[in-house]
Amino acid sequence: MSAFLPQVDPDRNRRVEALNDARMSHRFNYTYVSPLAMIDRVPVHHEFSFKWLAAVGSRVQNTLHNYMEIEGDSHFSEYFKSKHGILSRILEVGAEAFTSALHMIVSDALKLTGRMGMNSTRAKTLEDFAGIFRKIGLPPVSAGYQNDKVFAWLRLAGPNAVMLHNVAALDDRFPVTEQIFQSVMVGDSLAAAGAEGRLFLVDYALLNGVQLGTFPHGQKYLEAPLALFAIDRTTKELKPVAIQCNQVPGPENPIFTPDDGWNWMLAKTTVEIADGNIHEACTHLGRTHLLIEPFVVCTFRQLAPNHPLYLLLVPHFQGTLAINEAAWKHLIAHKGGVDKLMGCHIDASRDFAVQGVLTYQFAESYLPKALASRGVDANQWLAEYPYRDDSILYWDAIHQWVSDYFSLYYLSPADLQADEELNEWVRELSAEDGGRVVGLGLKSGNLTLEALIDVCTMIIFTASVQHAAVNFPQYDVMSYAPTMPLAGYSPAPKSKTGATESDYLAMLPPLDMAELQMELGYMLGTVHYTTLGQYDEGHFDDPRVAGPLQRFQVRLSEIGATIDGRNNLRQPYPYSFLIPSGVPQSINI
Ligand code: FE
Repeated sequence: MSAFLPQVDPDRNRRVEALNDARMSHRFNYTYVSPLAMIDRVPVHHEFSFKWLAAVGSRVQNTLHNYMEIEGDSHFSEYFKSKHGILSRILEVGAEAFTSALHMIVSDALKLTGRMGMNSTRAKTLEDFAGIFRKIGLPPVSAGYQNDKVFAWLRLAGPNAVMLHNVAALDDRFPVTEQIFQSVMVGDSLAAAGAEGRLFLVDYALLNGVQLGTFPHGQKYLEAPLALFAIDRTTKELKPVAIQCNQVPGPENPIFTPDDGWNWMLAKTTVEIADGNIHEACTHLGRTHLLIEPFVVCTFRQLAPNHPLYLLLVPHFQGTLAINEAAWKHLIAHKGGVDKLMGCHIDASRDFAVQGVLTYQFAESYLPKALASRGVDANQWLAEYPYRDDSILYWDAIHQWVSDYFSLYYLSPADLQADEELNEWVRELSAEDGGRVVGLGLKSGNLTLEALIDVCTMIIFTASVQHAAVNFPQYDVMSYAPTMPLAGYSPAPKSKTGATESDYLAMLPPLDMAELQMELGYMLGTVHYTTLGQYDEGHFDDPRVAGPLQRFQVRLSEIGATIDGRNNLRQPYPYSFLIPSGVPQSINI
């Protein structure tokens, strides 16, 4: 099927028929994750493929094996053994005839019910958390996470590396004095650091007053901390300086510094818990998975299958509707996996996801603008920022690819105006009875090529690179609960002294929740299905696409070499989440 713009297609009737069918099978629903636009029913051809199911199934298999090892010879172990046996046989045979059986097992696993019969015991030592990793590998970050260097690294290369802001000074909510600052940054000053652009803040004000969760073991805690960082003039290293666990300063909400022993460790943990909650609901679910859904639906509804834009985008939508349906039906459901794990109430988690989408002005969120708005784009002091440094390479490469691709089809502004399908696509994306995308930056009837290239760059970037950057740390960072607990199980410390290791252990999740967090992180954070830039053989049958596509692929391999070189030098850990071979084409996990 050759690619044609509608105005030059010799067979326009076929397009109209195809679109009529697609509009029947792709309808919006605004009640599932209200008021966001979701697909009403996932059409069959968007369902999980056998290959995808097998990839996730192998993680389920290993999780079951891990649980068998934990159970030892208890009476529950037979249950895991038989389930493991069935799944192993299906995966061994590998026949598509088993698709529906495999689908059932995988869907069941995505409900995240955990290990049957597990007791809610508290860890007596930190080794207890490592002890639940039997067949699932213990991620290396688990050995170093207590170090302040790793705490800073997580802000630059962790799951939610989008929070750090450059600030010139602090406001009244966070009254760090010169004396406090200089006790940590000896020989430096708060005023100088602010004036020179070396001062950075992470602020979880969004969590202030949030409804706390209680499921399944009673009261959970989630603070709204502020954390101050500064760059050391000499070493250029980002150092944590101070943390205040809540937004309103006062005697019971002191400012902690690295000199405060276990109290500092507890304060850092409140930051990690806040980061994990914002990460999952807002940055990950909201601003990648749910953000992309209306683009999938509108593309199928408004662009014929031989429209050049359809051909460009559809590979980046593979699996998205199916995984999103699994997420809203099971994962963010009442008494589902997220309800169990998160510090906030499930309604609050859902609300963060929804607000995350509604407050994300699409055209203001392009990577270069997002980095600039946080003051981290051209900051001469912030030399090392793995998320920024690697993702911007992709942004530019995708922008070039989209721009080269469009130049084959849209030769003048008149070509854009005459493309009725494109104009309808743009109109429906923002429409109240359409995709409800906020701040798209395109206007139907008044399209410019530059704006269209930006929008499509953002779609492809979000579906591939941005999702990879926020999804894969779920295993490497978050699966070991103490590194980034998803809920606190005791409130923030009210004084700067007196805490002990047992207070720290009391703040961490019970072991059954740590197991569930391990399962979530491992299953969602290790499936790299498809690879950015690798389109199916013959997908673009227009021979003119070969040149630009090859240029894109060469650029991706150069980016890989650059990242490998950087990773050889990076401390304390390499940044593995954006290695090209590990960045999928689409959001499918
Ligand atoms: Fe994901």
